[in-house]
Amino acid sequence: MRTWIRSGTVIDPANEICSQRDLLIENGKIARVLPGGMAEVPQEGEFVIDAAGRVVCPGFVDIHMHEDPVGEDGKIVLDEDKAIFCAMLRMGVTTAIGGNCGSNACDPARYLDMADRDGTPVHVGLLSGHNYLRAKAGCTDKYAPAGAEQIAAIGQETRKALEAGCVGVSYGIRYAPGMRLEEMLVSAGACAEAGKLAAAHIRSDAAEVFASAEEFLELGRRLGVRLQVSHIGSMAGFGQMKEFLERVGRARAQGLDVACDCYPYDAFCTEIGSTTYDEGWMERYGCGYEAVEACEGRYKGQRLTKETFEELRREHPEYLTVCYVMNSRDVEMALQALDVMLGSDGILDGGQGHPRAAGAFPRLIASYVRAGKLSLYDAVRKMTAAPADRLGLKEKGRLSVGADADIVIFDAQTIQDHATFAQPLLPPSGIDMVLIGGEIAARNGKIVNGRLGRSIRR
Ligand SMILES: [Zn+2]
Repeated sequence: MRTWIRSGTVIDPANEICSQRDLLIENGKIARVLPGGMAEVPQEGEFVIDAAGRVVCPGFVDIHMHEDPVGEDGKIVLDEDKAIFCAMLRMGVTTAIGGNCGSNACDPARYLDMADRDGTPVHVGLLSGHNYLRAKAGCTDKYAPAGAEQIAAIGQETRKALEAGCVGVSYGIRYAPGMRLEEMLVSAGACAEAGKLAAAHIRSDAAEVFASAEEFLELGRRLGVRLQVSHIGSMAGFGQMKEFLERVGRARAQGLDVACDCYPYDAFCTEIGSTTYDEGWMERYGCGYEAVEACEGRYKGQRLTKETFEELRREHPEYLTVCYVMNSRDVEMALQALDVMLGSDGILDGGQGHPRAAGAFPRLIASYVRAGKLSLYDAVRKMTAAPADRLGLKEKGRLSVGADADIVIFDAQTIQDHATFAQPLLPPSGIDMVLIGGEIAARNGKIVNGRLGRSIRR
């Protein structure tokens, strides 16, 4: 079938296009890109989408999110009212990269196979989580270094995951303080050989962010591996951002291939049992227990006290919390920087969590572009070409002839995120249509076909 998307303002930073164009889609690919307004008249039987007054751009690529879990039936849990992949699709994402911060929902090769077998709301790519493999290799104590045998096993499994098509490896150094450079070098080495990306939630944040970044950059210095520092708003967003960005810029000037991602919110989200809240966290952030809000359980929506914090940490370490401690000016500075792209860091547990999972992408336009903090063109680049190029995905994040017809059509004047900390899954408005492989996947915030996505492998 041939589909036209006519008269829209096409923004395709990968091809430096920002003007009215007609797009022709054939067999799931971009077949032609023509000057807008009837350069060619559609034939009878061809499907025509009128995009006049709308922006037409590549489907958003989320380089940093956390994939949905696998149910007991061996399938990815994709209930529309809970699944993050559904939330992703509703906000215009067509390619989502999970496996971040060192963790995978299950064996990544198996997960990618499931996506191909059953179809997913968006295309799914994965990083191979170093922490996942570390635990699988028998490192039960997150505070202890891995032994030689375990390190060898991590290396072997990383190679397998990369061969299965994982787009790189990820580290959650924060979540396994016992992790040492020698064990990271093994998985990063495999990643360097494969020419793929190594991403990290680095060891610590706030005043400790500089030393933590240096540790990760060392992988690039030793191996030449491409690096991605994850969600820098929640790492350097406590007054350190200016210096942090300068240091990353210097590293790049010295030849390191390093970039960063960030989400447009000034509160972070993590499990209450995580090492983020180990002794010393209040001093690091300069806050008290009241900065933390429970996302789940009997205190859901409430700010915590010493008593409730300790109770939840002891009894429900898996519960998600939101911590309101980041500096909004730092987050803005990050998202305005040239080599920082948008990554939602979306994570949901049974439909609960941080609103970034359902709002991060539209929010960049609503709160940054319309507020004059970022141009629409730059915002689109940070959500399409920048992450696709970082991941080496040549068919994604662009509307080149022959590229996959993953497209989002929205109204730049009205697009708006609505997800809040109280209602994290409220869909955005102002997005007319999301196409995956040339077919309509979502329309006006509602999913039309939630099975068009497949695995992304490279
Ligand atoms: Zn993280």
